[in-house]
Amino acid sequence: MSNTKIARRGFLRTTLVAGAAIPLGAIPIILKADNHRLSEDDAAAKGLGYLHDATKVDTTKYPRRAGEAGSKQFCDNCQLYQAGSEDGWGGCAIFPGKQVNAKGWCNAWVSA
Ligand code: SF4
Repeated sequence: MSNTKIARRGFLRTTLVAGAAIPLGAIPIILKADNHRLSEDDAAAKGLGYLHDATKVDTTKYPRRAGEAGSKQFCDNCQLYQAGSEDGWGGCAIFPGKQVNAKGWCNAWVSA
């Protein structure tokens, strides 16, 4: 038997063992980790004053969210919000590929 065949067998054996070592339950966690939630520390998020909890917005810095009308602004009633598959989180046209909190807010809020 050639060294190449032995090496190939070893590779296949290692690959099968490694594959079997990943429990099926871990797959949703891996997929979920790929479902990126927007970080409040993201530079673009910071630039627009995005927060996961709109009630914590500094209204002196962002007066658009001040007053009775402003206090009703949330991501889930923003025109740019795209309801997601994950409860309480969805997409946003401003932050492509990221999920924003339905009860969040940023200064780009647009009435739906
Ligand atoms: S643009 Fe709208 S949906 Fe997107 S983060 Fe700002 S308020 Fe939320």
